[in-house]
Amino acid sequence: MLVVMRHDARAEDIRAVVQAIEAMGYEARPMPGRHRTTVGVVGNEGRVDGTPFSALEGVQDILHVTPPYKLVSREWKADATIVRLPGGLTIGGEEVPVIAGPCSVEGERQLLQAAHAVKEAGATLLRAGAFKPRSSPYSFQGLGRDGLKLLALARRETGLLIVTEAVDPEGVDAVAEAADIVQIGARNMQNYSLLRRAGRAGKPVLLKRGIAATIEELLLAAEYLLAEGNPDVILCERGIRSFDTETRFLLDLGAIPTVHALSHLPIIADPSHGTGRRDLVPAMACAALAAGADGLLVEVHPNPGEARSDGAQSLRPEQFERLMADLRPLAEAVGRRIAEPVGART
Ligand code: PEP
Ligand code: MN
Repeated sequence: MLVVMRHDARAEDIRAVVQAIEAMGYEARPMPGRHRTTVGVVGNEGRVDGTPFSALEGVQDILHVTPPYKLVSREWKADATIVRLPGGLTIGGEEVPVIAGPCSVEGERQLLQAAHAVKEAGATLLRAGAFKPRSSPYSFQGLGRDGLKLLALARRETGLLIVTEAVDPEGVDAVAEAADIVQIGARNMQNYSLLRRAGRAGKPVLLKRGIAATIEELLLAAEYLLAEGNPDVILCERGIRSFDTETRFLLDLGAIPTVHALSHLPIIADPSHGTGRRDLVPAMACAALAAGADGLLVEVHPNPGEARSDGAQSLRPEQFERLMADLRPLAEAVGRRIAEPVGART
């Protein structure tokens, strides 16, 4: 950390900063410049809390040279994390799994139809919400535990692995029992008690970026999961709020290589929520794959016109099939491979 002094800071202001640094058990290195002095902090492991310094006389700025997160950083772990799932499926390595399914579990027929359709097209994981965190309390909130039972049925029938969302700490165990990956949605990215609980659930966690969260905040949220002892965290870029109303959210493709540079964790992309528009999903899925996404999350509904949530962004099964056919050669062109269905693994 560097404490930048104001140009008119007095010698005693600088001394006070030095003393405060030493009182914390670190060494202070004042570096006088032509216009101002900067005091460097050395001997610290990890980030020093700069807040007390900003209140001292003569201090202009606090500059951090280490990021505020540790366990999720590339500095801490240089090799990419590969999340290993049942059946030998991996996320974060060469293969790129496609996670697909309807936004919500609406009933047995709808879920099984969707599951069979996405499996036939080549998806490896089925994702559907049993618990839905909706912006409006009057919108469909999901089937709850009955939805989890239907997901377990779909898993048995198709062999697809299951991703589904936990919305509160109390619900994590039930979700973790039915799911191969526990999703934490955008609206809950900074729900720290939920993160702590999910960090102890014993299942990989898919953590979606909050709609107004910075990449640093996303990584700090993931740090909660790793700090609880869960190394199997998959991040998800799902679009952020922008000023433009053409799309529902703005899929931040730059976040994918940025996260790869800062962190060892895999990051997947969700072009469905990231655009809110079915017609834009295929192009943005391809773009995300080209940008280095370690997986894709695509909403698919057997009959989007009847969907109880997110119908406008859900692909029809035949559109999804076409997208999968486009993704395969593209994955090869960028040195990856679309993951094969678990049953088809050797
Ligand atoms: C979802 O995945 O269906 C969902 C609600 O997404 P998000 O949390 O990204 O809005
Ligand atoms: Mn949705």
